[in-house]
Amino acid sequence: MEVCLVAVQHSPDDPQPRPRPLDIELDRRGTLRIRWSHGPAHEIPLTRLRQRCPCATCRAERESAASNPLHVIGRAVNADESVQVETAELMGRYALRIVWKDGHDTGLYDFGLLLELGDAANGADQLSDNVKKSGN
Ligand SMILES: [Zn+2]
Repeated sequence: MEVCLVAVQHSPDDPQPRPRPLDIELDRRGTLRIRWSHGPAHEIPLTRLRQRCPCATCRAERESAASNPLHVIGRAVNADESVQVETAELMGRYALRIVWKDGHDTGLYDFGLLLELGDAANGADQLSDNVKKSGN
């Protein structure tokens, strides 16, 4: 385990605050940029966001794709629209709802997922060492 070098100050009645976005900028044809309360700024490609859509339909699709030996690669006719954003809105203080240009609008990206995707897209390599060592 790495020791965190930054001293975290806890005030007694304030539990450790979870990271939250201070600033979210959505480029409809490119990337989602988030500046987080704990410091980092992330750029997440929209293609990546769409691939990881957390709604039940997309999750089921990914699961069946994972167990299917057939993989069809390439662009469908309106593939562009599936990775462009029509609009987006914040759902309270916990999630971002994205409406895609192809009409798909059931994905609620909670901030934990956005943080995970942002870390992955921006190379949090100092964390990856610890992930798979806990088994033995
Ligand atoms: Zn979805």
